[in-house]
Amino acid sequence: MYRTVDASVMRQVNKQTVLSLIYQKSATSRVAISEETGLNRATVSSLVDELIAEQFVEEIGLGNSTGGRKPILLRFNARAGYAVGIDVQITHLTSVLTNAARDVIHYQRLELEANQEHYTADWLLAILRQEIQAVIADMPTSPHGVLGVGIALPGLVHHIAGNVIYLPNLGLTDWAIVDELSRWFPYNFVVDNDANCGAWSEYLSRRINNLVFVNAGVGVGSGIIINGALYRGRDGIAGEAGHTTIAANGLLCSCGNYGCWEEYASERALARYLKEFSVQAEIGPHFLTDSVRLAQSGDPAYRQAFQKLGESLGIGLSNVLQVLNPEIAYLGGTVAEAQSLVLSEIQRVIRHRSMDANKGTPIVIAEPTAVALGAAGLAISQTVRMLPVPTT
Ligand SMILES: [Zn+2]
Repeated sequence: MYRTVDASVMRQVNKQTVLSLIYQKSATSRVAISEETGLNRATVSSLVDELIAEQFVEEIGLGNSTGGRKPILLRFNARAGYAVGIDVQITHLTSVLTNAARDVIHYQRLELEANQEHYTADWLLAILRQEIQAVIADMPTSPHGVLGVGIALPGLVHHIAGNVIYLPNLGLTDWAIVDELSRWFPYNFVVDNDANCGAWSEYLSRRINNLVFVNAGVGVGSGIIINGALYRGRDGIAGEAGHTTIAANGLLCSCGNYGCWEEYASERALARYLKEFSVQAEIGPHFLTDSVRLAQSGDPAYRQAFQKLGESLGIGLSNVLQVLNPEIAYLGGTVAEAQSLVLSEIQRVIRHRSMDANKGTPIVIAEPTAVALGAAGLAISQTVRMLPVPTT
């Protein structure tokens, strides 16, 4: 039996390839697309004309000539549609509405009660529905509306099936979150690990091909970009650096292991260090911000607690650098708010513990919206590949 592909199907596939390529570039041209895809110039021109008519693509002027005529530059139309990104943490949610170029149009933060009884799938679903509705309420009109919704979650996620595997700090397991959300909204949903979203956001912003993003809040996770792609591992759960052991006979972690990095480098760790200095502090939406303020005002217990946090962050980050040798490492999450109190200690520990080649790796503080922006970016990336582009 012979495999055949209908000409219209092939044209559709080629059109999606061209659109996806344009989305990935800040600017390109018909000639460059032809060279990169191997499609002949007439086919590329015809497909690009359709994409311009559908308002997915726009012409933005002339580029530099490489011998012949100056090429007309193309880019993805930033106003083609919008995406929602939601960063779910234990104490708060950060939500953004972006245009197709990932410029933030709307931002909102919702504080959550730190009450274990509330951590059910139905509770989180209700909050997500409310946030999505609020974020898209003032969405400008556009040819393609909501291009996608990305949800970043603090734990193990099956991003292809759209399922939660295990969110240790929320106690949620085996939850078909995309199916649930799809019952309420007609949008393309994407779920991913929060640190993966942060890593993807930084990659899209700077196109650094090998980087790591450590998201440190109530828990700790990492997202890894290798050769310009998210590294996911065999089961899609790569990057669980927060649950690597840094103390052989250490404290019991929420994952069931003992001595996990997360127990020493998270908000939970900061609360425990404060307790060692006789300060009772409760983890909540303002815990990190309030602690930073008290340390900056000179409170010795808070200053020492942050130094211990910085040392533990440095130990784990040094391990990450030794394994991955990235070009850059980002520190995101609420703990990044404490950069003035922890960054120099992190760098001291890395200089002390890492091999020469890794000692100078830049440790960069991420923007607070990085994870939400990355979730929106992943949703757009997936939608662009899946778009049922109409053919003429
Ligand atoms: Zn653990």
